[in-house]
Amino acid sequence: MSEQSERPETVPGGTRVPVRMCVRCGAITDTPVVVSEVHQGSGPGFTVYACRDCAPHFPRVPAVLSLPRASHRGGGER
Ligand SMILES: [Zn+2]
Repeated sequence: MSEQSERPETVPGGTRVPVRMCVRCGAITDTPVVVSEVHQGSGPGFTVYACRDCAPHFPRVPAVLSLPRASHRGGGER
């Protein structure tokens, strides 16, 4: 018995293009531009995409978020 299996499947032209929906005009674009990243306190955040036409209409994404320090106050004083 000769086992002839395990063929490496090659998918010609099977390149998936990540398509995103523009948050501004709602168009599906294959050239999404990250315009904003939303970070949630709990749970994973999400990225907001826009098409190339709408991208310039958005403000730049701050590289570093400089948020004011959250003051830790010892609550619960009676
Ligand atoms: Zn758009």
